[in-house]
Amino acid sequence: HALPTLLLAGLNLKKWYKARQLGPNPLERSLISAYLRDEFVLHYQPIVRVTDRKLVGAEALIRWEHPESGLLPPSRFITTLCRSCLGKDVGYWVIREACKARGGWSNLVDPNFKISVNICGRMFVDQYIVSRIQKILQDTGTPGHFLELEVTERIDLDRAPHAIENMRQLQELGISVAFDDFGTGFASMKHLLDCPVDRIKIDRSFLSGVPNSAVHSTACAHLIELAHLLDMEVTAEGVETEEQMKLLESSGCTNAQGYLFSAPAGEDGFADYLRERH
Ligand code: C2E
Ligand code: MG
Ligand code: MG
Ligand code: MG
Repeated sequence: HALPTLLLAGLNLKKWYKARQLGPNPLERSLISAYLRDEFVLHYQPIVRVTDRKLVGAEALIRWEHPESGLLPPSRFITTLCRSCLGKDVGYWVIREACKARGGWSNLVDPNFKISVNICGRMFVDQYIVSRIQKILQDTGTPGHFLELEVTERIDLDRAPHAIENMRQLQELGISVAFDDFGTGFASMKHLLDCPVDRIKIDRSFLSGVPNSAVHSTACAHLIELAHLLDMEVTAEGVETEEQMKLLESSGCTNAQGYLFSAPAGEDGFADYLRERH
């Protein structure tokens, strides 16, 4: 993107965004002012280990505290945000906020508790991703193994072969990489074999058919088996019932996340949740 060049040319960031606010897309314009006014917040949802339901991590999920419309879910803006000039900056902001929050919970969680952050696929293409994340870890005093990056979008590996190298370098810092919403689109089998992925997250549309649909239950069990054969861990998303947990237990799924355990909560609400469990 043209931003680094403009920065080198001595243009200040706020001025640059201000200039972009005159651009054509109204949602992009509102997102820019939302970012400048600090209206994005993170909610957190617990992730538990299937075998004993021990709390092993949380996923950070962005929301927009809109001054008129109230709290907006990512479905209302994330696609535009990722494609906009703000995509990377908000992406790094999310990582920084999540690392700070993780640091604040140190006395309430296991030392290996991971914070998972969703990032747009195109962030792996950013030539500065490794140094920028390294800087965030340093600034916030976060060991790399506290952080997991969830790729929620297709990475164009043909156009960005260095994305895989970036992924490897991040893993050398201790960071793990997960393919999100696995089985529903962006992450093809080829992607899974080409990228050094530590974990897949099974999309909740598979779980939603368990136990009533035999096809969904079989697909779930086989996705879990496939992940194990490839030496990857598996998190099942959208777990809402004990019947679904039974299938996950019998298939050897690693982790589970869903309303059965808790819906995502704001930072204060999540800290209360941690204190109650502690
Ligand atoms: P995701 O990463 O697959 O996150 C899981 C979504 O499922 C979340 O929706 C969560 O609230 C919802 N969920 C969790 N448990 C259950 C359940 O038991 N039942 C049902 N029906 N839903 C459940 P949310 O928070 O609306 O986020 C939607 C998507 O937006 C995320 O899907 C992710 O792809 C994207 N997203 C969220 N935050 C960020 C972010 O900071 N950056 C980027 N690039 N994308 C984000
Ligand atoms: Mg704030
Ligand atoms: Mg996710
Ligand atoms: Mg998902």
